[in-house]
Amino acid sequence: MSTPTRITHLFGGQSWDGTAARTSPVFNPATGQQSADLDLASAELVGEAVAVAKEAWASGWGSSSLAKRTQVLFRFRELLNERKEDIAALITAEHGKVLSDALGEVTRGLEVAEFACGIPHLLKGGFTENASTKVDVYSIRQSIGVVAVISPFNFPAMVPLWFVPVAIACGNAVILKPSEKDPSAAVAVAELWREAGLPDGVMNVVHGDKEAVDALLTHPDVKAVSFVGSTPIARYVYETGTAHGKRVQALGGAKNHMLVLPDADLDLAADAAVNAGFGSAGERCMAISALLAVEPIADELIEKIKDRVGKLVTGDGTRGTDMGPLVTSQHRDKVTSYLDAGVEAGAELVVDGREADFDADGDGYFLAPTLFDKVSPEMSIYRDEIFGPVLSVLRVQSYDEGLALINANPYGNGTAIFTNDGGAARRFQHEVEVGMVGINVPIPVPVSYYSFGGWKNSLFGDSHAHGMEGVHFFTRGKVVTSRWLDPSHGGIELGFPQNT
Ligand code: NAD
Repeated sequence: MSTPTRITHLFGGQSWDGTAARTSPVFNPATGQQSADLDLASAELVGEAVAVAKEAWASGWGSSSLAKRTQVLFRFRELLNERKEDIAALITAEHGKVLSDALGEVTRGLEVAEFACGIPHLLKGGFTENASTKVDVYSIRQSIGVVAVISPFNFPAMVPLWFVPVAIACGNAVILKPSEKDPSAAVAVAELWREAGLPDGVMNVVHGDKEAVDALLTHPDVKAVSFVGSTPIARYVYETGTAHGKRVQALGGAKNHMLVLPDADLDLAADAAVNAGFGSAGERCMAISALLAVEPIADELIEKIKDRVGKLVTGDGTRGTDMGPLVTSQHRDKVTSYLDAGVEAGAELVVDGREADFDADGDGYFLAPTLFDKVSPEMSIYRDEIFGPVLSVLRVQSYDEGLALINANPYGNGTAIFTNDGGAARRFQHEVEVGMVGINVPIPVPVSYYSFGGWKNSLFGDSHAHGMEGVHFFTRGKVVTSRWLDPSHGGIELGFPQNT
């Protein structure tokens, strides 16, 4: 057993050298060994970091030229691309997802850095000459100051990257509060910003739990909050942040459905269900956890899924396995408790993830892929976001019955339809009340130049992440009406200005 290392805050261009009153253990979920002790910030320390960030914004970055910003962004993009394997290894060591999946996460985050490199174009305003006689009108977008990004455990690199490059490109200073379960990737990426030439204090990382989050949500110098996490905390963050005068986008939990119509290619659908249900051990906000099979195809589809699941290897993500562990032992136990709950409620346990061999040493937090059939809407395995490798099949009789279930669900993050009928797919994209829709694509995560976000309890606030919505979220609009005086000006007129 090796001694746990220390992970600490990074702000003002330096690692914090104080002594934390509280720390939190970080584990390798594939072995069950503690790998690090994480310093947790007090409200006072958060205040210090915010002051550093505010100074960096006010003294330069907020009014830096777009040429300077793009130079930093391009260098950051190159560094992230060069170091993506190292970052992926950090993710696997603390989150547990397999290395190829961790690399995929970094690559999707990299896309947002590439999008942000286009900031000169993205910030171009409008200009109208002679809106009124000799009066010109134009719009500009300006940075807002210090912004906070609070991220979940399940994408320790990608979720911060959804926001940070765009926020920085827009001229803001950032305080990132990563998940305390797997903080190292966020620190490593923050160090790349420094290497890329970003001035000290513009990108800062503060670790912590509720105390640090509350300090960010109530601090008067934090102007915007981007949050991603579970629905109860997302709602709390939204309500508290907006009550303190901030703009808030708070992305919450999910229960994503895949609707398979009888005309679908069932091999494609089975592959998709396995990939989207069990990738990253089901710990994805876009994971498919409810499969709606429109009869008469359920038996055949379940057989195909069962066949594929039987070939998956669960184990240590550094060993070329298909699926890694769950993030903590508590979470593994919670997910496992749903297996009993499902059986008690009358669902049929087709594949039991407890009955598997795991390719790992030590005492990792494993549960292999689990498949339920004959699940009905009132069961907790259907109602709750389990956030584990548990796929529930609900047998429905028609497209309409499937659609009604999806639209009645309180979450609305992602969904997918599998069909060869273009008309049905087109109807679905229009009728379904979900923010991100896949047509024969099981995990429809939008590319960086579109925006990521769900509906209903999957997002509080009205701005989605990255794309133009991200640029708008991280800037304030201003419209200038201008008249340059010439000899014809002057005269008194107390009426409301009219355009002539
Ligand atoms: P979580 O809500 O437990 O934690 C998210 C963040 O909030 C962390 O930084 C954590 O430190 C902080 N936090 C936790 N409890 C808090 C409290 N009481 N007060 C203030 N802050 C608190 O979420 P998680 O378990 O890390 O992540 C999994 C959840 O995130 C799932 O529900 C998943 O669906 C969701 N998620 C959603 C999206 C999306 O885009 N909608 C993306 C990824 C994950």
